[in-house]
Amino acid sequence: MPSMLLTLSLLISTLFSSKDDEKPKVGTVIGIDLGTTYSCVGVYLNGRVEIIANELGARTTPSWVAFTETDRLIGAAAKSQVSVNPHNTVYDTKRLIGRRWDDAEVKRDAKLFPFKLVNKEGRPMIEVEVKGEPKVFSPEEISAMVLGKMKTIAEQFLGKKVTHAVVTVPAYFNDAQRQATKDAGIISGMTVMRILNEPTAAAIAYGVDRKFNEERNILVYDLGGGTFDVSLLQIDEGVFEVLATSGDTHLGGEDFDQRVVAHFLKLWQKKTGNDVSGNQRCVQKLRREVEKAKCALSSAFQVVIEVDNFFEGQDFRETLTRARFEELNADLFRGTIKPIETVLKDANLKKSDVDEVVMVGGSSRIPKIQQLVRDYFGGKDLAQGINPDEAVAYGAAIQASLLSDNKENQMEEEIIVIDRTPLTLGIETVGGVMTPLVERGTIIPCKKTKTFSTASDNQEYVLIQVFEGERSLTKDNHELGTFTLQGIPPARRGEPQIEVTFEIDANSIMHVTAEEKAMGIKESITITNKERFTDDEIQRMTEEAEAHREEDEKALKKVQALNNLEQYIYSLKSGLEQVENEESEDSVMGDMGEALSALSEDDREKVDDAVRDASEWMDEHKDSASLDEIEERLKEIKSIVEPLLGHTLSQDGDDEDDDHLDL
Ligand code: AMP
Repeated sequence: MPSMLLTLSLLISTLFSSKDDEKPKVGTVIGIDLGTTYSCVGVYLNGRVEIIANELGARTTPSWVAFTETDRLIGAAAKSQVSVNPHNTVYDTKRLIGRRWDDAEVKRDAKLFPFKLVNKEGRPMIEVEVKGEPKVFSPEEISAMVLGKMKTIAEQFLGKKVTHAVVTVPAYFNDAQRQATKDAGIISGMTVMRILNEPTAAAIAYGVDRKFNEERNILVYDLGGGTFDVSLLQIDEGVFEVLATSGDTHLGGEDFDQRVVAHFLKLWQKKTGNDVSGNQRCVQKLRREVEKAKCALSSAFQVVIEVDNFFEGQDFRETLTRARFEELNADLFRGTIKPIETVLKDANLKKSDVDEVVMVGGSSRIPKIQQLVRDYFGGKDLAQGINPDEAVAYGAAIQASLLSDNKENQMEEEIIVIDRTPLTLGIETVGGVMTPLVERGTIIPCKKTKTFSTASDNQEYVLIQVFEGERSLTKDNHELGTFTLQGIPPARRGEPQIEVTFEIDANSIMHVTAEEKAMGIKESITITNKERFTDDEIQRMTEEAEAHREEDEKALKKVQALNNLEQYIYSLKSGLEQVENEESEDSVMGDMGEALSALSEDDREKVDDAVRDASEWMDEHKDSASLDEIEERLKEIKSIVEPLLGHTLSQDGDDEDDDHLDL
């Protein structure tokens, strides 16, 4: 339907800017690693990064929130009372943030959580009892409580209010998850100035971005409490590109603890005849001691695990050796090598292409893990100078210092942290053509504008359909969102100027605006509610696009040929109309009109016949005709009209044709 179509007009202007606008007044900006199991906060102060300890002296704080009859507990206080209050103790909300209820991950996790999940308008919400009353919280609200706690920890250290932060997220987080994390920041009373990719933050912490002279490939191995992420980054002149990500969303230190707990419960049963695996209190007490023992085993070779009054007055006392711990988890440890192979394969790189291996996450402290990774890379030294559970917050604090407008919080050295778009972004124009605005691999933040026009006379509105993907027709790409720009003043096709702007902020969140220039009517959307693709899907789509390139080129050529023919017919038609209306006072004669008016009545009749024939042919054969047939048709009408009109005008027509993307 022509009234819904957009056509790319002759007026194409592309603006590009990757610079932020003026900095607002923000004060001290803090960096927060909002983790699945633990969170960590850092600030840049007087020339160095400070990782800030909480009120208990710990530099990481459990991302846990609990509701008791009288209080709301956050952090270690919430985690330590889970065995007596499991249904009102909430954790792992990072697994839920920005996701839909029917998301497979959510369905899987819902079964594991001791707290209740409910479906509210398609979104997973957490139902707990607060002071005896049921209350529903969104994952954003729970995350906001954790962010609020980290903010307070920083404020106590700095002795002043903090209002702005940089928050990190996994590299594979989509728009919705990033946006939801920003929202959590707002709920906690902070402005999240940047959402930074966790592996990028870890790489920044190690200063790998400051080795400017060469392109470097960095593998970030991040094994935390409940998640395992491997990312391959490429850094060139301060520009960070996430080449590939892989991992296991359900693997981490807690699984290692679980293996040990299961082993000791079995041993207890064998020795005492009591199966206590169903006794939450016993299991929790044991788990706490096992986690401590596991951490100790990263430096010691043997530890004693003791739980007084473990079960029915009996104490628990067992020795755990490092060798035994490694044996109990051998398959899990070995399994972490597979995602390394996957990212290398996806990025088409060899082991030897990796310049640096950065170890992140508390569990990367385990000596056996380090040995496996080191051996895999042929004995390569691992980047380990910074505490692995603090590296992400460390990098976030460096990024925060660049945004801070307090002298004491600013880094002297300017570094640039930049990501790139993983896929081409564009809109649909006439004929279902994907017209790119932002090419794949463009450095973000960025802003690009193109001017489009209407496809038919007196078109009142245009539909802006936003897509991502590498194929030339939108039907083969992924739709991100749609909106309509209404109220375009009546005008001939091609006259209105509709400026479409894509703006991708530093958090990879995209804003699309369409503006009609004459009247200044404006519409916009923020692309947040659609799932973006995973790297695997992006890889698959890229490969598919490659395979379909030839086919796509053909389809595109056909669309262009049809557009050329239609355009040619249209210019003749409107020229003939102008000649017909020549006598009327307000008629404006274009070049084509002038040329046609110079013809004899007979010749004009011939042009009119040719136009009618071609129009009829178009109506009937538009969909079924081959590229050759369409081109043939254009040649045919030109062979009738051009000898009559002379050469100059036919050139004009060609120029216009060339610049039109068409159906
Ligand atoms: P993160 O999510 O990065 O803070 O990592 C938390 C996980 O790291 C938890 O499962 C901790 O038990 C584990 N962890 C912390 N320190 C050590 C250590 N020294 N050795 C082994 N695991 C550790």
